Amino acid sequence: MTRPTYALISLDHLRHNYRLAKQKSVGSSYAVIKANAYGHGLLECARALPEADGFVVARVDEGVLLRQGGISQVVVVLQGACSAEEWQEAARHQLQLVIHHEQQLAQAESLTLSDHIQVWLKINTGMNRLGVRPEEAQRLIMRIQASQSLHLAQVMTHFASADTGNSREIDPALAALDSQSWPAALSVNNSAALLTGLANIVESNESVSRPGIMLYGSSPLLQQSADELNLKPVMTLNSQIIHTHQVKAGESVGYGADWQAPKDSRIAVIAIGYGDGYPRQARQGTPVLVDGIECPLIGRVSMDMITVDVSAHPGAGIGTPVELWGERLEVDRVAHYCDTIAYELFCQLTPRVKRVYQ
Ligand SMILES: *Cc1c(COP(=O)(O)O)cnc(C)c1O
Repeated sequence: MTRPTYALISLDHLRHNYRLAKQKSVGSSYAVIKANAYGHGLLECARALPEADGFVVARVDEGVLLRQGGISQVVVVLQGACSAEEWQEAARHQLQLVIHHEQQLAQAESLTLSDHIQVWLKINTGMNRLGVRPEEAQRLIMRIQASQSLHLAQVMTHFASADTGNSREIDPALAALDSQSWPAALSVNNSAALLTGLANIVESNESVSRPGIMLYGSSPLLQQSADELNLKPVMTLNSQIIHTHQVKAGESVGYGADWQAPKDSRIAVIAIGYGDGYPRQARQGTPVLVDGIECPLIGRVSMDMITVDVSAHPGAGIGTPVELWGERLEVDRVAHYCDTIAYELFCQLTPRVKRVYQ
């Protein structure tokens, strides 16, 4: 028997979304599966994509898990190595590493690595998080080229605001890249940039795109929904009603008595809470799909439960299935009610929620 609260993961939809990303790519496309594949399961998602040109993770340990799980495609590590041990581990497991700071390069130069390593040089084009400034890049590239054990695979950048779909946000970054010639292909496209196509002019058929969130069926664009973009939801978060009762007008529900019934109401208690990763900041009125009918969240989210007003749904009772987001309730809508983004909702899901793959 499945537990009442579980996340159903559609690997078919993951493949559908990857194909769309690949279709939109100028060159090849590496699926971003960092942070446990945005909460969807690292190895399960990687194994479901034998057609993927490669994979992208954030940390060396995530790359090692992929290798130990038998994944043989290219694996790129976005944060690169944090220590000499990580350089050696990357060489041993044939992981490609991003160099985003001169010190990482200096560390590699001081080591005798057991094997060649393909590296990506990250250029800071305005995000001002990781990366070297464009004017420093050529000097570092010369050092990479002079190294016995390093080989430059791609030159990459990551945009701060590709999600607006506004070219004015991206143009200065593109201009910074275009003002130099590079000895390797440029990799610039995350999901948002890929779907707008605004940055394609700097890529070639040797470039690698790095789609993440779109693979999981959430829209990275502010102006367009996942459905409009032909993305299919991968995760459907399910639970069920474990209790129902009537409250009278003026009575309150939940901690802090935050919600008071404006009229006599029927309340359902659902077996999911912030202990499962359902966000505590979900506002009153956040949509919850009770047996296909949208009902508003009321009262505070607790650790193991939420409460919903099911007055409009007389058929709802103990055992009635509930969808928190997914197939029929867009995760981006729920995220909006929680003042966050789907990325966080996915990543926050705790291990208590069993992932069921289909
Ligand atoms: C996470 C990440 C991506 C994927 O971004 P999405 O918005 O999820 O498509 C691509 N590139 C870098 C450098 C990242 O950190």
